[in-house]
Amino acid sequence: MVGDGRELLGRLTQGSQVTVTISTKKGRMNVEITDVKVLQMSADHRKGWNWTFVKVITDAGIHGVGEASLQYKDRSLKAELEDFAGFLKGRNPFEIEYIWNALHRRVTWTGGPVTMSAISAIDLALWDIKGKALGVPVYELLGGKLRDRVMAYANGWSVDATTPAEYARRAQEVVDTGYQALKLYPFRGAQLVTKQDCDETTALVAAVREQVGDGFLIALDARARLNAWGAMRMAEKVEPYDITWFEEPILFDNPDVLAELARAIRIPVATGEQLYTRWGFRAILEKGAAKIIQPDICHAGGISELRKIATMAETYYVPIAPHNSNGPISTVASCHLDACTPNFFMQEIFVNFLPLYNELLTEPIVIEGGYLKVPEGPGWGTDIKEEVIQAHPAGAYSPVPADQRYF
Ligand SMILES: [Mg+2]
Repeated sequence: MVGDGRELLGRLTQGSQVTVTISTKKGRMNVEITDVKVLQMSADHRKGWNWTFVKVITDAGIHGVGEASLQYKDRSLKAELEDFAGFLKGRNPFEIEYIWNALHRRVTWTGGPVTMSAISAIDLALWDIKGKALGVPVYELLGGKLRDRVMAYANGWSVDATTPAEYARRAQEVVDTGYQALKLYPFRGAQLVTKQDCDETTALVAAVREQVGDGFLIALDARARLNAWGAMRMAEKVEPYDITWFEEPILFDNPDVLAELARAIRIPVATGEQLYTRWGFRAILEKGAAKIIQPDICHAGGISELRKIATMAETYYVPIAPHNSNGPISTVASCHLDACTPNFFMQEIFVNFLPLYNELLTEPIVIEGGYLKVPEGPGWGTDIKEEVIQAHPAGAYSPVPADQRYF
């Protein structure tokens, strides 16, 4: 790594290797956004599950790619991105902080999943442009790498498993692939947690623990489907199996109750995939409602905002484990952030998405021994292939997925 900075300084001083025009009059890169394309495709995971990418194009022959995938809100998201495009055209893509704040604050009604996911995607695309223009990976723009690889934990591995034996068999596949951590969704209850729910959940967790052995990290995700009493009861049952975290044991929008639960159980509480911006995480941190936070780079405000959220969490000695259930740009961008974040814990990766990720990317995501290799090359170090997007047309939208367990 030594030499990268000097090389960059040399490029800027000499100007000969820089791939865009530098305007010294204005003291900034003289680049202009000319177009914004919204690209949607099917994730081939389940009906109506799509990925949404944004491609920000400049007059310097450089484009940046961001991702905003927001399942079941695809049409609203596309409209928001197209509206934002009107503001972006003609702007300098290097002014990331200005653009972020303009999109977030210069409107009367802001925030929420649609607006924040649109801002996140644009933010990611702008970081990609800046990295490409300066000829460096995005992680260099964030202060440089602390690590060359980032620990990943496997999700999406248990797809069709239902019984403890099937979970154990699938978990062994995760172990055999080299991972050292996984997450599962063993909880059956919603507002009512019965003894049968408790017993079935405990049996699943016990089977997985027995299969993977001591030392392997197991995280549990309740997807916010328990009530406070049910979550407390379940935590007592699964505590003997050395659980790394209890994710979204209850909903995320009453930090007082979440903090009360966090104090009452011994498994660390994790939350954050449905929270946006540093303001969304403030109360969670101040009240001690989570020991691990999980902002999503495609929803919480992009790499700019996750950097701030992570730093804020660091002052509470809380690590980040970025949520990542979306497409390949989400994964790659998260990896750049993880590489230079001191309080990074581990990165979610959907193992069942990996083949499509790598079909879609010009440079593949590399995972070895359960670690993601930090991408090299300008910007993200990879790009999306539009012909692959076109080969997987977006599926039917279902705004409200039917799931009777909620009721
Ligand atoms: Mg989750």
